[in-house]
Amino acid sequence: MSFTAFNLHPVLLASIKAQSYVDPTPVQRQAIPEILLGHDLLVGAQTGTGKTAAFAIPLVHKLLMQSEEAHQGKVIKGLILTPTRELALQVQHNIHALLQGTELKHAIAYGGASIGEQVRSFKAGVDILVATPGRLLDHLRHKAVSLKHVEYLVFDEADRMLDMGFKDEIVDLLKRLPKQRQTLLFSATLNDSIFSFSKNLLNEPKVIEV
Ligand code: AMP
Repeated sequence: MSFTAFNLHPVLLASIKAQSYVDPTPVQRQAIPEILLGHDLLVGAQTGTGKTAAFAIPLVHKLLMQSEEAHQGKVIKGLILTPTRELALQVQHNIHALLQGTELKHAIAYGGASIGEQVRSFKAGVDILVATPGRLLDHLRHKAVSLKHVEYLVFDEADRMLDMGFKDEIVDLLKRLPKQRQTLLFSATLNDSIFSFSKNLLNEPKVIEV
């Protein structure tokens, strides 16, 4: 099976090829079609399985299809939450590569770096934001970003987020997000705490484990 089987936007297919990805990995083969269909997902996949592209490819595809339908102003439609700055940077790197040749914009927000610089980076418009929970809340409290138009919410390494004690921040963030959205939760392990955490977040999720 190759990436062409997913019927992806041609510009996205070209940027996937430019990264020398030939065939989708197992988690991509299972997750991409479900995400394209609009399902919420609970995915157990470790780093190294290609999990980032598994959520990033369908997200970029959906935003590209939308931007052809209507020329709306740039608002955050895709939000990817990560536990750490390092993971946020890694995810942003993947997103950046996938957005080559498109008009879509991405930005990043993580703690321990200049707030002002991040705020300036939002001014050009943001379609996809990669963020750690604490810093994202800071930006929301300062009204530097709005999450009112988020349609796709991704939790990357959700188990680490819980281990690091981000539960309260996540509860606070969820209050600021539209209820009508697609939510994807990725975790290295699927254990009881992930299942109970996901209950309030996901709507009839499909469960994938690789
Ligand atoms: P991840 O599990 O998201 O951290 O990805 C691990 C590595 O696999 C990254 O360096 C990706 O660029 C790479 N990768 C992701 N998908 C593919 C693919 N379909 N073919 C080859 N490499 C891939």
